[in-house]
Amino acid sequence: APEESLLSVNNIEVVYDDVILVLRGVSLEVPKGKVVTLLGPNGAGKSTTLKAISGLLATEDGEVTRGSITFEGEEIANKNPEDIVRRGIFQVMEGRRIVEDMTCLENLRLGAFTRRDGGAAIRNDIDMVYNYFPRLKERTGMAGYLSGGEQQMLAIGRALMARPKMILLDEPSMGLSPLLVKEVFGIIEQLCHDLGITILLVEQNARMALKVADFGYIMESGKIMLDGAKEDLINNEDVKEFYLGGD
Ligand code: ATP
Repeated sequence: APEESLLSVNNIEVVYDDVILVLRGVSLEVPKGKVVTLLGPNGAGKSTTLKAISGLLATEDGEVTRGSITFEGEEIANKNPEDIVRRGIFQVMEGRRIVEDMTCLENLRLGAFTRRDGGAAIRNDIDMVYNYFPRLKERTGMAGYLSGGEQQMLAIGRALMARPKMILLDEPSMGLSPLLVKEVFGIIEQLCHDLGITILLVEQNARMALKVADFGYIMESGKIMLDGAKEDLINNEDVKEFYLGGD
């Protein structure tokens, strides 16, 4: 029997500015508690797919014009981003988008803005984030002074503060040194296992992404070209040649 999907994207088309067709029938399934990665070259439509799910598409004059997106069985295509955050989907944007003139702690508190539970639960979760990312606790200045890797950690930590069911991660490896990439991916894997958070991960770094993912989809020119379990993709000759760079 197929695993229960938390998120199903069914044959969606996405159009920007009423005329620019960017996604041409994209389907993907994200089972509960798994890490699924969406890979592909620049401009393939990976970020657009994430924005279609999170509702942020509308802020760029984009729209899902065909197909459906269901989360926990309910239609969410073209709903507003606040509605989607309330349902438990949280997107960590490419380029991080932390608030630079606030401290780490203030950024983390911002992440909890949709929660109705009290201060004690939120303080508890701040400790949990510091536990995953001990370095954030030591940095007491403005977040704008954090290194790229630390800002990425803060962006993920802030997402955790929303107690999401699902995190959409857009290129967490961008701008990080190989060592930090390893560290951030290790934490992504841990989050999924320890907290049961379902993750949809967009990456250019296919090698790292396939290490942590359970399933992968490969996208080109607004379409899914290939999909499969991690091992199938790692052993696929085309994937090896075009995405894993030979060795
Ligand atoms: P990258 O890794 O470079 O971010 P991507 O796979 O995430 O690539 P998208 O950012 O989704 O790709 O872009 C897919 C296509 O949609 C590109 O051709 C891009 O030019 C176009 N596009 C993206 N955003 C907009 C927008 N706001 N308005 C019009 N076209 C857009």
